[in-house]
Amino acid sequence: MEFKNYIDGRWVESATARRFDTLNPATGQPIGTAPDSDERDIDAAVAAAAHAYRPWRLTPAPRRGEILYEIGRILRERKEDLSRFLTTEMGKVLPEARGDVQEAIDMAFYMAGEGRRLFGVTVPSELPNKFALAIRDSVGVVGVITPWNFPVAIPSWKVFPAIMAGNTVVFKPSGDTPGLATKFVEALIDAGLPPGVVNLVHGPGAAVGEALVSHPQVKVVSFTGSTHVGRQVAERAGRLNKKVHLEMGGKNAIIVLDDADLDLATEGILWSAFGTSGQRCTAASRVIVQRDVKDALTQRLVERASALRLGDGLLDTTDVGPIINQRQLTKIHSYTEIGRGEGAAVLTGGEVWANGGGFFYQPTIFDQVTPTMRVFQEEIFGPCTSLVSVDSFEEAIAANNSVQYGLSSSLYTRDVNKAFQAIRDFDTGLVYINHGTIGAEIQLPFGGTKGTGNGHREAGIAGIDVFTEWKSVYIDYSGRLQRAQIDTDKLTGAN
Ligand code: NAD
Repeated sequence: MEFKNYIDGRWVESATARRFDTLNPATGQPIGTAPDSDERDIDAAVAAAAHAYRPWRLTPAPRRGEILYEIGRILRERKEDLSRFLTTEMGKVLPEARGDVQEAIDMAFYMAGEGRRLFGVTVPSELPNKFALAIRDSVGVVGVITPWNFPVAIPSWKVFPAIMAGNTVVFKPSGDTPGLATKFVEALIDAGLPPGVVNLVHGPGAAVGEALVSHPQVKVVSFTGSTHVGRQVAERAGRLNKKVHLEMGGKNAIIVLDDADLDLATEGILWSAFGTSGQRCTAASRVIVQRDVKDALTQRLVERASALRLGDGLLDTTDVGPIINQRQLTKIHSYTEIGRGEGAAVLTGGEVWANGGGFFYQPTIFDQVTPTMRVFQEEIFGPCTSLVSVDSFEEAIAANNSVQYGLSSSLYTRDVNKAFQAIRDFDTGLVYINHGTIGAEIQLPFGGTKGTGNGHREAGIAGIDVFTEWKSVYIDYSGRLQRAQIDTDKLTGAN
């Protein structure tokens, strides 16, 4: 398969004429090539998006929403094919791939509905015969930069609210999943999106991503990826006074108290730690357990984790799919070495699983971990989780909050008072009670605090904020000069 850039309504080659391979991570075999673009392609794409902006902005929002309904319908129609291709290019097991596509379908329909709402506010004026309201306005050209781990869902969280609100988009996907980005954009085109409203440029982060972030006509940058790259994006965009939305790394924990349902907690931990091979920003890479139930929980976890079957995500017999690429595989294994070096014990896993060409890592559980160890503090982004014992609920909350990230936290308990205390005291953007750290729904805000985010959220109504500016409007129908804050003195009594 030869994927292309999509600029101004046409599939085109890069100005560089170079290409790069995209691989199936389960086999290591190439499945296609994509343009290895540079800043010239970004310039062309931004010019197209800037040209398309005014007519798109003036298209009524309900009409923009209708196109999103059609996008949702097309994605639903293509769900199975797209999900199978998602497993082939990104690796996650097929049921999870279907979930990835379903999230984009849900987001399309949700944002389609917003096209008929896009609520503003009206408030009373402090002066008579004066009307006061605030409306949401579009911002302009949006730069969208995405990772590979949710290669259909994450672009939808950004592109759909952006275009619903009247912006146009230049989309730079991860170099690991160019085929999925292409199929995502194909659905938008087939739904009738006008040329230039969404443009796609493939290529490496350093060249293409930086050119997009730096381009003077790009008014908003919405980035999901690592905290390291996100900081660079923020610095670059900040110097140019752009709106920047960052969704970055995570180091999420599940706390299991001594009154918890241990079977339920075991299910939640396995799903959150090893689902998507741990390659989720919300993955549970820490388990904080009260000492009295530590042995019982550990026994259940090790037994179940060591029985998980690795393999190609398209096979029904596979529980855990591959790691995205060799670089990530090497990084994951280096953390096993780091953990061992710091004194952690590996209870299960801890090795690369060689199956001839693919990139696989065994589900790994570290024990005898303390909250200061690197495996407890740093994002590994693989199928690895660390067990830490605590004596009290308070100690558990403190350990949970001790990391630089702030995405997702979970508590297993039967004590409703502790549940509410945790909701109050967890310092993360997502909180789960008696459920693992993964499984966000698109109608609520999604995002994190501290090193995970920069104060914005995607999804839900909050997901519109970054793609709109507030415009406050005052309409004075008194026929005379009325001065706010000054003439209000005269308004007491009959006036
Ligand atoms: P990454 O930071 O390496 O890359 C993310 C995107 O940024 C890619 O498209 C990449 O090409 C681009 N990029 C790289 N360098 C750039 C630069 N200098 N300027 C502009 N763009 C650049 O991340 P990844 O490996 O693709 O994804 C994994 C990371 O994403 C993990 O840290 C994970 O936690 C995070 N993530 C976060 C969320 C969230 O919502 N918080 C969701 C999914 C993934």
